[in-house]
Amino acid sequence: MASNLTDRLSQLVKTMRGQARITESNVQEMLREVRMALLEADVALPVVRDFIARVKDKALGQEVVGSLNPGQVLVSVVHKELAATMGEGVADINLAAQPPAVILMAGLQGAGKTTTTAKLAKHLIEKRKKKVLTVSADVYRPAAIEQLKTVTRQAGAEWFASTPEQKPHDIAVAAIDYAKRHYFDVLLVDTAGRLAIDEALMAEIRDLHGVLNPVETLFVVDAMQGQDAVNTAKAFKEALPLTGVILTKLDGDSRGGAALSVRQITGAPIKFAGVSEKIDGLEVFDAERHAGRVLGMGDIVALVEEVTKGVDLAAAEKLAGKLKSGSGFDLNDFLAQISQMKKMGGLSSLMDKLPAQMTAKAGAADMDNAERDMKRMEGILSAMTAKERANPKLLLDGKSKASRKKRIAQGAGVQVQEVNRVLNQYDQMAGMMKKMSGGGMMKMMKKLGG
Ligand code: GDP
Repeated sequence: MASNLTDRLSQLVKTMRGQARITESNVQEMLREVRMALLEADVALPVVRDFIARVKDKALGQEVVGSLNPGQVLVSVVHKELAATMGEGVADINLAAQPPAVILMAGLQGAGKTTTTAKLAKHLIEKRKKKVLTVSADVYRPAAIEQLKTVTRQAGAEWFASTPEQKPHDIAVAAIDYAKRHYFDVLLVDTAGRLAIDEALMAEIRDLHGVLNPVETLFVVDAMQGQDAVNTAKAFKEALPLTGVILTKLDGDSRGGAALSVRQITGAPIKFAGVSEKIDGLEVFDAERHAGRVLGMGDIVALVEEVTKGVDLAAAEKLAGKLKSGSGFDLNDFLAQISQMKKMGGLSSLMDKLPAQMTAKAGAADMDNAERDMKRMEGILSAMTAKERANPKLLLDGKSKASRKKRIAQGAGVQVQEVNRVLNQYDQMAGMMKKMSGGGMMKMMKKLGG
């Protein structure tokens, strides 16, 4: 079965070729596919219904131009509508308040509030040049207060001490007072979360909201929550005037349909996306790109960015110059290439961003193997002497090549065959480089870099 929406719709409309517009009669079946795709991406059913109705309105009567078929036209309508809905009102954090601008973090336990509080602190310090204070009002879990302290340090912000003996209300009052007296621009308030929604806790956070009068009330929600995100979002929306959403764990393998559900239910813009456990794993939410992911069309934009992010253009330029001057691609260059791959976050992180149908064949086990191979190759190349790396001939057809290879194998803790395999791979790559010299590679890199 074709797994992406464009393919599915294209198959469907083979029978309707030649139709020049989307009509009541051809749209029904196509919308069924769209509905399936959205449900598969974990968008909540009521949200899907609503969305489909809007898409139908927009799609009816659309001309089918050029070589496109009605399916492709519909996909583009769906994609646009998805991006527009999810991206509505996207903006950076609002700080327009008498300092300290207070930001209240709300969400279930485990959603990523504490981590996100620190990520946000880092963002505000680095991108907005603000002096940031954090405080935890989670008096139920002493570990949560400690966790905030640790991550706040990592973020380079200041942490205001609180204890489980205090009342959240009193913590809030004390933290604001401290922030004012020490001229902080922003106060980030982390709050307690429960595994499920809890009335007492909702009353508590409402009270906190009253004391703090925050300029932003952010709902932190785990993208992996899928369908359940809807109920959580509803409960928080009823309890608090939310001003924004942060969707965490988008680095996971969910299709991220929660974004559409949560946007629709809270009515608040999705401001940021959490993309790793690390403190710098926060990105401005990109609705356009996310729409592709929800529809299962893969994240090509992200892939290109990922590929170019890790690329050391200076090193690439040097290599290109070397190739041009005719000195060839040696084993040092080969080692540098492998290190470069690793810098890009490894194969599996790249593969994650490709459309599912392209990677279906390469299972997770294959990826693990490939990454292990890369590490092994690096080990083998590092066991060579600098002279051998600069002059691969010593290993390929030198007189003492057998004893050299044996020494390398021992150094890297592998069999001699594996050393041979690496040398073969190098040889193939060197051949390719030869063909690409004359600027071909630089052109390719430049293209990737945009
Ligand atoms: P809290 O209970 O809402 O404060 O949640 P935490 O901040 O303690 O986060 C719960 C878990 O989710 C921790 O293990 C975090 O490292 C992890 N986490 C948070 N945000 C992200 C994210 O964007 N990506 C990934 N992969 N993990 C995250």
